Parts: sequence; structure tokens; C-alpha cells
Amino acid sequence: MKLKLLSLSLAIMLVFVLLVSQGRVSAATDDGYTGFSERLYTQVLGRDSDPVGLEYWSNRLRTHQISFADCARGFLFSQEFISKNVSDTEYVSVLYRTFLDREPEPSGLSYWTGRLGSGSVNRDSIIEGFSDSAEFRNMCASFVGSSSNGITVCIDPGHSGVVASGYVPIGPGSSNMKLADTSGTRGRWSGVNEYVLTLQVANQLRAELQSRGYNVIMTRENGSVAVDCVTRARIANSGADICIRLHADGLDDPSASGATAICIASDNPWNPQTYAGSYRLSTCILNSYCSATGIRSRGVSAQNNMTGNNWSTIPCVLFEMGFMTNRGDDLYITDQSNHQVMAAGIADGIDAYFS
Ligand SMILES: [Zn+2]
Repeated sequence: MKLKLLSLSLAIMLVFVLLVSQGRVSAATDDGYTGFSERLYTQVLGRDSDPVGLEYWSNRLRTHQISFADCARGFLFSQEFISKNVSDTEYVSVLYRTFLDREPEPSGLSYWTGRLGSGSVNRDSIIEGFSDSAEFRNMCASFVGSSSNGITVCIDPGHSGVVASGYVPIGPGSSNMKLADTSGTRGRWSGVNEYVLTLQVANQLRAELQSRGYNVIMTRENGSVAVDCVTRARIANSGADICIRLHADGLDDPSASGATAICIASDNPWNPQTYAGSYRLSTCILNSYCSATGIRSRGVSAQNNMTGNNWSTIPCVLFEMGFMTNRGDDLYITDQSNHQVMAAGIADGIDAYFS
């Protein structure tokens, strides 16, 4: 897979070289994306950028084909950097400079080099610890000058590794009780748990939305907290403008496939005022996600039996990204190399909703 990606990148780069040489691509625009890429040449490769490479990376960032973390990873896993054969100490120092814009503190340096030395982590896996940090997100935001656009999105990664127990009312004041949360489904082919997938995509979507200037809040940031569906809605209601609930489907029939956006129905007894917004948000996200990913659309389903949707006082969609019980869907949505495309597709829908 890595090899396939590499050859694809090389092919795209070659096309770029051809276009540039024919004068069809303008010189690099001097924006934050260029600045961010430029910086990686210095921090990771220790040299000045070359115009073709700089345009290649900054353009991929600008058009949201990759995230900032993907870009940094591209440099860290380039043949040029690998062939430098840096020590673990130097590697960790490069990560600090690249992601946190500072030199490592002695305790951090010895912690990470110790873990690398013992083999409990590898050079690829420790990147996530750095790229998921608030320091890195703030640095990325400073590059694109994405002072907030004033819109706050709540992302609710469905389920969790610890399932909230007990029952909650299906809507505010209702005597109809439903399970507080459920464990979710699991990839029949990938073996990936739904709660793991939803958090991975949520993290990617958060980075994508922040790079576009949105504020983002999340209902959970790991798999070790139990969050019931009413609490999820309350987190979203307290300050967000819209809520995206990420899920994946499952059915016994392996032929069932596609993405579904679920929102409340027009006759919702609790928050009918959010119906029009929720329906439009559902349509926007479903359309852009399906056209970005090629996953088929099963349409918008308006219903009143989703607790989290019923408690939402803001436009809200429960988005089923595909079927984990369908081979094609499962292997596509659990492949982390597709997560940026999926996140950008959802973010395009959010842009469309607010435009
Ligand atoms: Zn689910």
C-alpha cells in the first residue's frame, strides 16, 4: 500500500513537472500553505525548498487533498529523510521542531527515545502523539491565518470502547426509555471496531475543519470514556452551531452498502424547529461525501427514534459512513489512507451548508 501511494505521488509529481515546464501551473502562491511546506524543507530535510516540490506539497494542502499532519509525514517518510539515517535522539528532536516548533525538553526526549529503543513504539506510530497535540493544531492555524470564521462544529464520534450503561429518555421529558449508548458494529472484513473508526475520522475531520477556520468541539477524544447519547447532545448544544454524529452501519446481509444521513422528521415532538436545518445539513454532507469517496448514497432518512438527534437543539445529522458488514465499504472506510478524502468530503458539505 505504501509503495502504491509512493508511486502514485511520484506520478502526480511528474504530471506537475510537465505542467510547470509547459507554463500551465502558475508559480507558488505565497500563502500559509506554502509557508508551512517551506518550513518542512528546513526542519526535516535541512535544506532550501525546490520550486516544483514546494508547489506540489503546498497545492495538495491548499486543495485539501492532504492534512498538515499528512504533509509532515510525507517529509518524514521521504527517501531523502530516511537515507539520512538519523539517530532516535535526532529523530525525536526533528518531531519536536516539526510539530511543536521547539526543541525537546530533556524529560520528553528521554521518554520518546526510551520507547523507541525498547521497541514499544516505532517511528511512524509516535508521530500521532505529536500531530494530535493542541500545540500543533495552533501552529497550523497560525500558518493559514485561520482565525475562526465564527462557526463552531461539534463532532460526535459514535460509541466508545466503554459503553455508557443504563437508559435515557428518547427525547426531553419522554417516558420512552432507550439504551444510554450501544457498543456499535465491527468490520466484518477489517476487524476494526466502529468506535475506533469513528474517532479516527473525527480527528481527521477536526483537523480539516480547523484548517478551514471552524471551531471544533468533540464529545469524546478517546475510547476509554463512557458517553451516553443525551450527554453527547448536551455537549453539542452548549456552544456549537451544528452537530455531526459519525457512525458506520451494520446488517446481516453483506450486500447492503452505502452511506445514509439520518435526521429528525418534520413531526419531531421535541425539537421540530431544527428539522429544516438538519435535513439540509444531511443532504449537503451526504452529497459531498458520496461524490468525494464514490460510496453510494442511500439518501436521507428522517426519523424520530435516534436519542442524540431528538435531544439536539441545533441542526444535527447522524451520518452512517458506509456498511462495515459490506466488504467494499468496510475495507474502504477503515483504510486510513482514505480518511482525508472522507473528512474533506464531509467538510465540503459543511462549507456548502453555511455558504
Ligand atoms: Zn453506530
